[in-house]
Amino acid sequence: MSEETLILDGSVKSKEIQEEIKREVEKLEDEEGVVPKLSIVFAGNNPASKSYIKLQQRICDKVGIESEVVDLPGDISEEDLLAELDDLNNDDDVNGILIQMPLPDQVDDDKVIRSIDPDKDLDAFHPYNIGELVIDGDAYVPCTPEGVMALFDMYDIELKGKDVTVVGHSNIVGKPMALLLLNRNATVSVCHIDTKDTASYTTESDIVIVAAGVPNLITADMVKEGAIVIDVGINEVDGKIVGDVDFENVKEKASAITPVPGGAGPMTIAMLLKDTVQSCKDMLAN
Ligand code: NAD
Repeated sequence: MSEETLILDGSVKSKEIQEEIKREVEKLEDEEGVVPKLSIVFAGNNPASKSYIKLQQRICDKVGIESEVVDLPGDISEEDLLAELDDLNNDDDVNGILIQMPLPDQVDDDKVIRSIDPDKDLDAFHPYNIGELVIDGDAYVPCTPEGVMALFDMYDIELKGKDVTVVGHSNIVGKPMALLLLNRNATVSVCHIDTKDTASYTTESDIVIVAAGVPNLITADMVKEGAIVIDVGINEVDGKIVGDVDFENVKEKASAITPVPGGAGPMTIAMLLKDTVQSCKDMLAN
């Protein structure tokens, strides 16, 4: 690693945010007598989802946020799932709702997404929240790109005028990431599975953000000297968690880089906590 390469430590920054949130939660309890609450809707038996939910609950617990899992059977009908969601939408004690994807095949994801109360939609799945993001409005944005933006801010990384390539164009990471960057006046290219020559974009970029779910997709020859590289990918290879970037070689060229694990992942959870508390405050104010 060149001496100057900065490791963008999402774990440390996430812990700083968690400390702040813990104090805010205590204040809400002392002054308003309320405890922020997150509900996670889960249907089926996906082991990866289960372990992620456990992690989310453990961290909620650490900062004093109440969390519940609405654990539904894998064969639940769409109608019953929508009824559960309706209860959560109307429950004044619930500040945030997460729908754990993928949902079972018999349930129409789109119908569910459009049925979440946008004010409790912390993943910003609902078209209302995505629309607000397009016009740089005030609404929830998906926690992972929000966490990447927080990381840029915490490390004082300027985005205005920078050439940025986002690799990946999912609704939950790549597209909102690109919009958040555009809203800060970065010049943004978005690459995806059908992009003819991803390297021709990444090699010209000041910042490369990768969220593809493909180990070693971004190699050292694909980044320019001094670039900032953010790896959102989470992949399991030979029992180890790795990102989408060839970290060992890319860090030799980058001026700053996120590790996996310990980069974008912990920031995602920090944003989830922050947004749950914000929703609680907003609900108290209205
Ligand atoms: P997705 O499967 O919905 O989207 C993948 C995107 O990558 C698509 O836009 C696809 O076109 C693109 N892509 C795939 N192969 C490509 C290639 N060879 N070249 C260029 N583009 C390619 O995935 P997602 O939900 O956006 O997640 C992406 C990755 O980020 C996954 O590894 C996921 O586990 C991870 N993730 C991490 C966090 C976190 O908290 N750190 C949160 C969400 C997702």
